[in-house]
This record gives sequence, C-alpha cells and structure tokens, in this order.
Amino acid sequence: MALKGLDIFKLTPKTNCKECGSPTCMAFAMKVAQGAVELSKCPHMSADALATLSEATAPPMKSIKVGTGDAEYTLGGETVLARHEKTFVSKTRFAVKLSPDMDIDAALAESNKVDYERIGERMHAEMVYVEYTGDVAAYVEAVKKVTGIGKTIILSCTDVEAAKAALEVCKAEKPILDGANASNYEAMVEVAKAAGVVLGVSGADINELYDTTAAIEKLGYKDLVLNTTGATIKETFSTTVQVRRACLAKNPDRTFGYPSIVNLCKIAPNDEPMQISLASVFVLKYGSIVVMDTMNYARALPLYGLRQNVFTDPQKPMKVEPGIYALNGGDENSVCLTTVDFALTYFVVSGELERSGIPCNLIINDAGGLSVLTAWAAGKLSSTSVSKFIQETVEPKIKCRKLIIPGKVAVLKGDIEAKLPGWEVIVAPNEAVQLVKFLKDLKANGEI
Ligand code: SF4
Repeated sequence: MALKGLDIFKLTPKTNCKECGSPTCMAFAMKVAQGAVELSKCPHMSADALATLSEATAPPMKSIKVGTGDAEYTLGGETVLARHEKTFVSKTRFAVKLSPDMDIDAALAESNKVDYERIGERMHAEMVYVEYTGDVAAYVEAVKKVTGIGKTIILSCTDVEAAKAALEVCKAEKPILDGANASNYEAMVEVAKAAGVVLGVSGADINELYDTTAAIEKLGYKDLVLNTTGATIKETFSTTVQVRRACLAKNPDRTFGYPSIVNLCKIAPNDEPMQISLASVFVLKYGSIVVMDTMNYARALPLYGLRQNVFTDPQKPMKVEPGIYALNGGDENSVCLTTVDFALTYFVVSGELERSGIPCNLIINDAGGLSVLTAWAAGKLSSTSVSKFIQETVEPKIKCRKLIIPGKVAVLKGDIEAKLPGWEVIVAPNEAVQLVKFLKDLKANGEI
C-alpha cells in the first residue's frame, strides 16, 4: 500500500536543511508520496528509515534494464494506465523471431532492411527472439549468430541445459531468458541468477502466471518480465491488460508489477496482416516487447509511427533546438530558410531540403514546439520573432540576405522585409514536398 506524505515525513530527519531541493522535510515528504521525487534525494535519511520507506515508495511497476551498449533498453516503470493521465515512459520494443531451423543470416538481412530515422528516433527491430527447437547444439549455434549484432537477445527456452549453454555464449550481452514456468522455475531462477540476466515467466493461464511469479519472488529473484501470451488472441489480450491493471491499481499488486512479452508468432502464426493489427493493439495496450515473424516496411511504417505518438510526453512539445542548421554543405553565402521548432516540421522540411541537394541554412527559432499555422495563430511565429532572431543570431554569422519563409505564413512577408532592411523575403510553397522543385527552380533562375 502506498504511503501517505505524513507517514514519510515522520521518518525524515526534520531539520529542513533543503539539501534535497525542497524547502522543508514536509514538502519533500509530500513530493515523495506523489512519486515526484526519489527518496534518495535526501542524504540524511537513516538506514532504518530508508529500509522502511524504500519498499513502500517503490513504483508499483519495476523498471527492468536489458541488453548492453546501444542495445540496452529499459522496459516497464509505467505509472498510469492511459497515456493522457500523465505519460508512458518505456516504449514497446519489437523483436523478430528466429530459430535454428531457419536461415538466420537471411532472416536478419531481411528484417535489417528496416532501419531509418524519424523525428530523431531510430526505427528498427531492436531485439531478436531465438526459439529453442530441441537440439542444444543447433540452438547454441543460432545464438552465436545473433551475438554481437547490436540487438538485445531473448532466449525462448524452457530447457534448463539448453538455456545454460546458450547463456554461456551471450550472457555478456544481458539477454532475457524467457524460460521459467510452473514446472521449471526453481532451476531457471538458478540459471538466470548465475548469468545475471532477466528471467521471463510464463503460465498456462493468468492464475498460473501469478502463482509462478509469486513463487519466484519468494526465491528472492525480481529481475523478471512476464510472458502474457496465451493460447488465443482473446486470452493474450485479456491477460496482458489484467496484469497491467492489477499492478497499477489503487492498491497495486506488485506480483504483476513487471514488463510484458507478447509473442504474436504464437497467436497469429504466419499471418502478416493480423500480426500488424495485433502489434498496434499491444503497442497501445501494454506490450513491453512484441515478437513478430519479421520486420518490413509494411509493418514498420504504421507501428513505429504509432509508437512514437503514444510514447511521447503529452506535456512536453517535441522540439528541436533553435539555431542555424547548415544543410548540403551550406555556408555563410547560402540561402536561408526558416520554419518552426516543432520536431516533425523540422525533420520533414530538413529532409526535403537535403533531397534538393542545394546548400542552404535552415533557421529554427523558438516557436513553442508548435506547427507553422498553430505557432502563427498563437503569436509564437511572427514578423517580430523572426526578425529579432535573424538580427541577433543569423546576421552576425551569415552574409546571404535572402530568406525563404513558409508558404502558410506568406502574410508575414511585408512585415519581415520592413523589419529586416537589406533582406529579400521569398515565400515558399505551402507543402514541404514542393520544396525540392521550388529550390531547384530558384537556383536555375539564378535567384539563389
Ligand atoms: S535533505 Fe532531508 S533533512 Fe534536509 S530538508 Fe530534505 S528531507 Fe529534510
């Protein structure tokens, strides 16, 4: 049960020393109770108080780190059931299923074709899910092929000896051992403990999943993910949602306070349209890892777009830093273009400018992270804001005096020219996709 601020206050040193950043111990206690501040921010808490409070104030759903280096990901740590209540924090990761009876190199080459950047985020299948098929030597060889390729490995293996052998190959990469169930969990806990890896837990149904997880916790192991995949789509959805609801309920049940794995290859085998549909569902409804047959553009484009929308903080605009972005080797003599700092606008516009191949400077001013028309309507994109930024930041660095403004705010042209003596303002087309031809035509006519 979550502690109240007053309970926490009773255990603070009550010296109001402010070292935690709060003006008083009471203010600190209230923030800890709301989950806004970590207990560790107070350096003067006694060991006894820490021990009492740590368990009670821990978030109901654990954050679990898997993988290493660039392939290290945090799963879980969620605090709300719906994104609009606050924010989701750990995005769904996609895993591609592999097994020893497949041509693993070919399968990896196929799924690796999807690797692109959208709004500053790399989009690719971050994980591989390697299924054990009964032959230990073949399994170890398959695991060798996926070791050191920059993806987090998930070992889908309920055979204790095969799991041990596979972990010998890949344990340094901090894989997930998705292999504990009601019949083997004691041995699997020992294997996972010895290798220092996260253990995946499965159950024949949600009750068995609960009992097995509770039994593993009793053994003292809490680096877990819960495989919520059931026998059918309906059961999988129901289990995944119930597990999350239980751990984020008002009185949370921490036994279910772990991230989840949903294996679509089991509930929709070889059915690409269904896997895409279900992956969308489980991005929204609590899949921490979603396993699919492969990754291709038919899957990636809807899924990564959806994931990016859902796993951004609705209270923080997606912005890029104001500044001068030189593109295609742009220098002080290159034409300037300006747009807003909304990340999607920036990446769409800069992508088109790069496609044009024409050296230029993209000028980004602070527009509150809003799109062009919204920023203009809100007074964040105006002739004053543009001209002030140009005078203060651009003029000292850039000699070219030609500025291209977004077509949607063509109305600003006269005012900007009046406020920026010596500058010629050119109005761009309304849509970014028209920029390539527009710039090439300006270049051909000797206007830039
Ligand atoms: S650092 Fe600790 S003792 Fe100091 S004000 Fe904060 S809670 Fe109180």
